[in-house]
Amino acid sequence: MDYYIGVDLGGTNIVVGLVSKEYKIVDRCSCSTNLPRSAKEIVDDIARLIQQLLIKQKISIDQIKSIGVGVPGTANKETGIVEYANNLGFYDVDFISLLKEHFDTKICFDNDGNAAAWGEYLAGCARGYHSLVAVTIGTGVGGGIIINDEIYTGSNYAAAEIGHHVICMDGIPCNCGRKGCFEAYASATALTTQMKAAMELDKKSYLWDLCDGNLEKVEGKILFEAVLKEDKTATLVLDKFIQYLSVGIANMINIFQPDILCIGGGISKSGHLFIEPLIECVNQQVYTRNSSKQTKIVIATLDNDAGIIGAAHLK
Ligand SMILES: [Zn+2]
Repeated sequence: MDYYIGVDLGGTNIVVGLVSKEYKIVDRCSCSTNLPRSAKEIVDDIARLIQQLLIKQKISIDQIKSIGVGVPGTANKETGIVEYANNLGFYDVDFISLLKEHFDTKICFDNDGNAAAWGEYLAGCARGYHSLVAVTIGTGVGGGIIINDEIYTGSNYAAAEIGHHVICMDGIPCNCGRKGCFEAYASATALTTQMKAAMELDKKSYLWDLCDGNLEKVEGKILFEAVLKEDKTATLVLDKFIQYLSVGIANMINIFQPDILCIGGGISKSGHLFIEPLIECVNQQVYTRNSSKQTKIVIATLDNDAGIIGAAHLK
């Protein structure tokens, strides 16, 4: 039987999955990325994890149709070079060649946001659709765009940095050097900052109980717990966050008008608490608010598996 290997190379962990041709993850293993490290050390770890999986599953490398890697940066598919990955400290890393030293197999890579979008397109919420914008809310805001059943990479493989379009001119400074980026308002990191600021203004908020009075312990998860308890401050923070999110999403829809737009990442686990108000908010803003056909907005279904499945089945 033929298998595929999908690698999710993140700033925190490296996850390697053995994936079937039906897009199922058969087995997986992982290790810490352990930054800062050289590209060679990281690729050696990827190779070690792949070997480990093959031995465990008693599969020979000949049964692997291809190995695909989702990289958090600009992956030039013509040259095989990762031109830039800020989290990994990669500048012009000859990534495919490094991995080829270990395996004489077809090896592909792409930006991790693109790989995750491809996974949702092949096997998740966007299965059967032809165009997709995938928004991933994590430390930053990542994205992947599928147009006419193909990943849209742009002319230089750097497209879909949707976290870095400005939703508020002269707004909050972003890591990229601009001010007011979508990511500075609608990432999980931004949400935590918004929660802390609101908590300082309401010392009686239930959020304080949920973090044991320690601001260091504030994370998105507790916001949703507090909202369920009808905490006023938590509800206000979530409402505002939904508004920020809606501006960026409405912009994406106005530009691409995809069949479907999905929202993934950690906070999507509480998606049922915000998807309806978010859709309502977006619908008030999109140019096509009166059109009979609208982009469907959904919570992504594959979670972190999207990146592994998508990477495994990259073309
Ligand atoms: Zn930015």
